[in-house]
Amino acid sequence: MLTIGGTAQAAEPRNLAWGCQGSDVVELQGQLNDLGYNCGPTDGIFGPLTNSAVVALQKANDLAQDGVVGSLTRKCISELKANQATTRNLKQGYQGNDVAELQKQLKAKGFDCGSVDGIFGPRTHSAVINLQKANGLIVDGIVGPQTRACLLQSTSNTGSTTEPSRGSSAPTRYSKVLTMKATAYCSCNKCNYPYGGQPSYIGLPLGQGIVAVDPKVIPMGTRLYVEGYGNAIAADQGNAIVGNRIDLCYPDHQSALKFGIQNIKVYVLP
Ligand SMILES: [Zn+2]
Repeated sequence: MLTIGGTAQAAEPRNLAWGCQGSDVVELQGQLNDLGYNCGPTDGIFGPLTNSAVVALQKANDLAQDGVVGSLTRKCISELKANQATTRNLKQGYQGNDVAELQKQLKAKGFDCGSVDGIFGPRTHSAVINLQKANGLIVDGIVGPQTRACLLQSTSNTGSTTEPSRGSSAPTRYSKVLTMKATAYCSCNKCNYPYGGQPSYIGLPLGQGIVAVDPKVIPMGTRLYVEGYGNAIAADQGNAIVGNRIDLCYPDHQSALKFGIQNIKVYVLP
């Protein structure tokens, strides 16, 4: 680093992009999740989910969709966070810590909304509707000021809550589990002839977390947990990947070779 007058210049935060790891990535992932851009567990690894979350945020805010968190994207995130400080109304499709908090409150009140995962899905929606019905509120499934006030009334027992899956072991919440014949590949030309070095079928850079499947079996964009591999996104396709087959992308050729062929469990996440 260039120093001027003997003192190091104040460190600009580094740009974050696919492949970055560290506590700044953890912080970024927490912010993205809070803002409703789901990037999975805050594991400090900038992988495919974090990349999709960044691109989605950039798209929604008219920024260049390069998946790189530089000064403009960083500024945008802090502005969004500042606006979010005022409580937002929650409804189906929203994600974040405030949704997780809502789910805890619903459970404490005896309205079953499934696991506390910070995702406002159909079960949370029906729990909110049931709460509204039971308390004579307008039944719209939206958590606004009145529903929020109702939730805060005499929440004496806090109940037990389930921690969201950390992604390091089989998920507790999934829509189905498939046993599939798995192979592995990497981004090299040998693994990808004639597409070496090119992004996946849906345009994500190849790397850990990208898997190829038959879109008739698992639609593109589906989030998966693959036994022995971890969290993944169905983002690629291949000529040989037909039916009950899955191809796992590894960061390097050696790891892909080492994997060989295995029968593994694939969890389809909701
Ligand atoms: Zn390879």
